[in-house]
Amino acid sequence: MNWWEHWFLAEETGCWIWRGSLSGGYAVLYKGYKTLKISRLSYTKYKGEIPLEYIVHHKCENKRCINPEHLEAIPRVEHGKRHTKEFCKYGHALTESNREEKSRRCKICSMKKLEDFNKKRRQRLLAKCRGSSGIPG
Ligand SMILES: [Zn+2]
Ligand SMILES: [Zn+2]
Ligand SMILES: [Zn+2]
Repeated sequence: MNWWEHWFLAEETGCWIWRGSLSGGYAVLYKGYKTLKISRLSYTKYKGEIPLEYIVHHKCENKRCINPEHLEAIPRVEHGKRHTKEFCKYGHALTESNREEKSRRCKICSMKKLEDFNKKRRQRLLAKCRGSSGIPG
């Protein structure tokens, strides 16, 4: 059995779930006295060489997944940042993608603030219109 055939598809996420051994939750293969990470094997097989000092990161956050489309090779330093467990005061995870570039604030929250602001403004405008047209509102 080849390692790249040793997985099953998780339909809802598209993850290729490894059927073999796990180490620290990660898909691994024991070869003699060496432990090989399947995510690295998969990336090398389907995507190409992993540069020195690069880490294969799971974009889907499923450590058992070996789908090359869910893997990304990023510099070790950059990778550390992706895994910082920071949250805004409303409990949204402050990942790289949920952070505003300059202010480093939570994107979900600032989107919501903007929405609330627009909603209030609309209501104010609406109230004004009603007032001037003389129709009781
Ligand atoms: Zn995946
Ligand atoms: Zn990672
Ligand atoms: Zn937030």
